[in-house]
Amino acid sequence: MLYDITRTLTPATATWPGDTPYTVQAVLNIADNNAVNLTALHFSPHVGTHADAYYHYDEEGTHPAAMPLAAYIGRARVVTVIKRSGALSLNDFAGVELEGGERLLIHSHVSDLPDEQWADEFPHLSVELIKYLAMLNYRLVGLDSPSVDAFDSKELPCHHALRQNGLVNLENVALRGVPDGDYELIALPLKLDAACGSPVRAILRTL
Ligand SMILES: [Zn+2]
Repeated sequence: MLYDITRTLTPATATWPGDTPYTVQAVLNIADNNAVNLTALHFSPHVGTHADAYYHYDEEGTHPAAMPLAAYIGRARVVTVIKRSGALSLNDFAGVELEGGERLLIHSHVSDLPDEQWADEFPHLSVELIKYLAMLNYRLVGLDSPSVDAFDSKELPCHHALRQNGLVNLENVALRGVPDGDYELIALPLKLDAACGSPVRAILRTL
C-alpha cells in the first residue's frame, strides 16, 4: 500500500510569510492553435513538501543536485507527537522505540491542517534530539511543520545541527491518516543546481 504524504501545490498552498507562492504561467495554449499547452513554473522550493538543501542556510552548502540521495530512500519510522508547539526533546518520545530506525517522520497536529492553511503553531526539532538521532545513525528527519527550527529563530540551530551531523530534512510532509510504524520512504529532491531546496513527491510504502 502507498501513502502519498505530499502537499498539493496550488497558488493557494500556504507559504512561509513573505515567501513566493506557487504560480503557473501559460506560455502556449492549445486553445490558441498551438500544438501543445506549455507552462512555466514560479515558486519557492519551500512551498509544500520539500527537502532543504544545505545551501539554504550555509553559503558553502550543497544545492539539491548534490544532496546525498540515499538519505531520501529507505526505512522510515512514523511517530505521532502530542506537543503542538515548541522544541521536541527526547521526553516527547518517551515510550517510543527510536533505536533501530534510519529515518524519522514526526506526525503532529499540523498534518490535519488543509494545504492552504498556515500553521500558527508547530513543533520543531531540538539540537538534543538531532544529536541523539545522529548517534543512532539516522539519515533523515521529516516534519509536517514548515521548519525544523522555531518560527522566529534567526540562528537556526536545528538546521545547522542537521548538516553538522550528516542528516537531511523534509518539511511540510502530510501525515494525516498514516498509522505510526515502519515504512519505506521515497522522497527524492530534484536534480536542481543553485537552488536552496527542492520539492519532493514523498510517499510511504508499507513493508
Ligand atoms: Zn525549507
